[in-house]
Amino acid sequence: MASVGVLALQGDVREHVAILGALGASVVEVRHVEDLARLDGLIIPGGESTTMARLLVTSGLREPLRARLANGLPVLGTCAGLIMVARDIVDGRADQWSFGVLDVAVRRNGFGRQVASFETVVAVEGIGPVAGVFIRAPQVVATGPEVTVLARHDHGSGPTPVLVRQGSVLGCAFHPELVGETRIHELFLSSC
Ligand code: GLN
Repeated sequence: MASVGVLALQGDVREHVAILGALGASVVEVRHVEDLARLDGLIIPGGESTTMARLLVTSGLREPLRARLANGLPVLGTCAGLIMVARDIVDGRADQWSFGVLDVAVRRNGFGRQVASFETVVAVEGIGPVAGVFIRAPQVVATGPEVTVLARHDHGSGPTPVLVRQGSVLGCAFHPELVGETRIHELFLSSC
């Protein structure tokens, strides 16, 4: 049984914990440096990336987690979590930082102010149609050569990636955990 952490400083932690539990993983809510010790993988949830970044610093988790990620700890970042793993942030706060383990550039709140939140059906490669809940979601605006796009969504100005993978790093712009969708978590667990 894989031991999978959910970064539990802020955001929709409970929903990820529930899905991982239902899939039979042993779940660790990560709040302190010691919680990183036994992990086979980590989910960085949705929430508010600037707040999460600040709490990562004050909790002392930033550098130890950076080291684990550099050593190849599998990670799934959803929404704000996608921002936290991205290489570049467009329209972030001036001092905003990220772990940079996924070679993409993301625009914060990139799907526009008017329709900041919406639901749609996303066709995921190898999985099929998935309910996609987007809540002030980041938009992937560039991908590096090592990145595989598993799903795209066209929100009116051409398709952009909404689920991407680079090795054991998965980035998801939407929230499968909010609609009880388990298949993206299963895909993640297969790399933990
Ligand atoms: N817009 C948020 C941010 O910048 C992300 C929203 C979400 O995770 N649902 O962090």
